[in-house]
Amino acid sequence: MRIVDPSFEIQSELDKQPIAIRLEECGRICYKSEDKISEESAVPFVTKIAAHGHNSVLEMAVATYEVSCHPDHVLEFHACQPKFFVTDRTESGLLVTGSIRSFREMYTQYADNAVVADLVADLAGKYPFLFEGIYNADEATAKSDDIKVQKLSLVQVEDLPFELLARHRFVGVKFIVNRAVTHELVRHRPCSFLQESQRYCRYSNDKFGNEVTFVRPVFYEEGSKEFQIWKTAMEETEKLYLKLLETSTPQAARTVLPNSCKTEIITYCNLAEWKHIFSLRTSPAAEPSMREIMIPLEKEMKERYPVL
Ligand SMILES: Cc1cc2nc3c(=O)[nH]c(=O)nc-3n(C[C@H](O)[C@H](O)[C@H](O)COP(=O)(O)OP(=O)(O)OC[C@H]3O[C@@H](n4cnc5c(N)ncnc54)[C@H](O)[C@@H]3O)c2cc1C
Repeated sequence: MRIVDPSFEIQSELDKQPIAIRLEECGRICYKSEDKISEESAVPFVTKIAAHGHNSVLEMAVATYEVSCHPDHVLEFHACQPKFFVTDRTESGLLVTGSIRSFREMYTQYADNAVVADLVADLAGKYPFLFEGIYNADEATAKSDDIKVQKLSLVQVEDLPFELLARHRFVGVKFIVNRAVTHELVRHRPCSFLQESQRYCRYSNDKFGNEVTFVRPVFYEEGSKEFQIWKTAMEETEKLYLKLLETSTPQAARTVLPNSCKTEIITYCNLAEWKHIFSLRTSPAAEPSMREIMIPLEKEMKERYPVL
């Protein structure tokens, strides 16, 4: 067995990569198949994932649009109840941010809405592989003359005024934490998540070192009696898990894995939600393993994004 310390990585550099690369890098965390990434693998990976309905991968990249239009179009757009979009009214119309998944699903339901149709026509024009089977330019509603949509670059999003920046700049963080922390993280509903799957990962395989990895517990000092009890429990658990794998699947054998099991998880949300997460998860009332990771993350995020 291996014992690791918890850690995090802010994925700002990944935001500068093409969208397919971003989605592939995030999506492969579930299967821990990052070794399969090549120069040509991103688009086929994303297309296959979309066809299989593993939709949360498509939540791992957002697009921000400035929409110039008549106020009636703004009302019509809001009548579609865009729950999974961040929208703000501007002098000329709307500022809209949504994940690839939210654009796809909005179009599936409201293709006849003029704003939705124009937004998706633009996005699908730029990234046709993301809208395969969903958008067909030949059958789509003709573009409206009185609506103008413009996709903002990352630099333009980062130039938005204070309050808009907090709502429209989405930032991903990849955590290596224990399974109790991931359980708490996924309670934050406005976020999107992808996590290492104990159904698909077989820790007896060579790429996992033929062993289970556990996160060092914040509660027990190394060398203490309690730490030794914890370590013995992990060793015994690992033996049982590996034994079960001889005759059963990872999804069956994982039923004996404990909260201390190491898990990789990506949490993706806007800066406003990160602010909310920090307020709850760094407070003295929060769980110590959560504070252990959130306090240094908050410090680093504030240095990168002073708006926080
Ligand atoms: C110290 C601590 C102890 C906890 N103990 C427990 C526990 O014992 N058991 C347990 O089950 N959970 C527990 N939780 C989890 C907690 O109840 C929340 O589910 C979790 O912290 C997510 O935060 P949130 O609900 O504020 O906001 P998020 O899910 O992060 O959402 C952000 C904001 O969106 C809004 N929002 C999102 N969804 C809704 C909605 N459906 N309705 C209305 N507004 C919404 C709210 O304004 C919310 O503040 C605990 C959390 C903490 C920090």
